[in-house]
Amino acid sequence: MRRNLLHIDSLLDGTGFEESPGAMLLEGDSIVQVGTPQSIGTIEDVQITQIHGTVTPSFVNAHAHLDLTVESASSKGMDFMPWVKEVVAPIRMKQTKEDVQKVVERGVQLSKEGGCFTVGDIAGTTEAMRAFQESDLLGVSFLELIGTGDRSESAIERMSDLPEGCGVQPHAPYSCSRDVYEAAFDSNRPLATHLAETLDEVECLKERSGAIVEFAKSIGVWNEDIGHACVHPVDAICDIASRPFLAAHCQYLEEHHYELLCKAGVSVVYCPRASAFFGHRQHPWKTLLERGVNVALGTDSLLCLDTPSRMTVLDDMRYLYEQGGDATTLLNMATVNGARALGLDESHYQFSIGKIAGLNQFEKNENHGFAKVLQSREMPTAVMV
Ligand SMILES: [Zn+2]
Repeated sequence: MRRNLLHIDSLLDGTGFEESPGAMLLEGDSIVQVGTPQSIGTIEDVQITQIHGTVTPSFVNAHAHLDLTVESASSKGMDFMPWVKEVVAPIRMKQTKEDVQKVVERGVQLSKEGGCFTVGDIAGTTEAMRAFQESDLLGVSFLELIGTGDRSESAIERMSDLPEGCGVQPHAPYSCSRDVYEAAFDSNRPLATHLAETLDEVECLKERSGAIVEFAKSIGVWNEDIGHACVHPVDAICDIASRPFLAAHCQYLEEHHYELLCKAGVSVVYCPRASAFFGHRQHPWKTLLERGVNVALGTDSLLCLDTPSRMTVLDDMRYLYEQGGDATTLLNMATVNGARALGLDESHYQFSIGKIAGLNQFEKNENHGFAKVLQSREMPTAVMV
């Protein structure tokens, strides 16, 4: 197999590995040796490539909706439920199967523009799921399910026809009954859900009242029979969970949830810019990490982002860095933690011996650490190995 020795100004990953200058001996897409140029030394019959700038593993966007990669007038400041009704629903209603294919392809392209070659994609339809699988992105496609009361059965049926390796995403505890969640856990497929995203969701689950209930009633879809206990959404889903899963958001938590999420092996996906878009503040991501919960980063859909030409957790890392986040911790969240959340081999997202999922090059950042990369506005290019 072709071997390639890369000499790199600066090589760093989310585990704290950092060598300036660095070197990496690759065989195909596997790392055979990694360290400094001196530690690898002279190797016969190998092509040496000089790479300028900083190289990191490629990034993982653990929660995106690629089938919502569409132009839309800014809807910032809207409440969540009216936003779903007035912004998301019309997009979905208008989309033909061909549109879905094109929109997902655009999402794939915008992900790669920002160095995200691995994505946890939430697919609204099987067409969107297929478009993701036909792309060259790594990751998992989760089919989104909605169903309460007498609609639960059709949601459960949709799971049974899915190809091997596809994930499922019961949308949220207020839109999917306990039966749907139980069937999703029983399916043994990768499982994601939106969880504790808004205070309205917490009120809906605990009290069966508030804006979500009123909204659902107004469009004729409220069903009292959601089957969940009248408790906080995290308590409701962790009570059903028979194995680890991926929970997007977890914005509104109570003290006992940290231990509960940790013990259940839940990966929380924090989508910082999408969260800010809806006016949420003070996400407990640092406390979650301190208490041993795996926290990954996601973008959510392009509709919530201020970067129409790309869709990348790099912008979320920059957003959190500006608020005092630690650069290496953020890189770990956007690589290793994301891979772990998606059930992928996390060693492929750090510089250790073995397969590497991809390499991002920041050509203009020579050897000043990842903090400098985050301070800059440079977008990465993929190093072809
Ligand atoms: Zn989402």
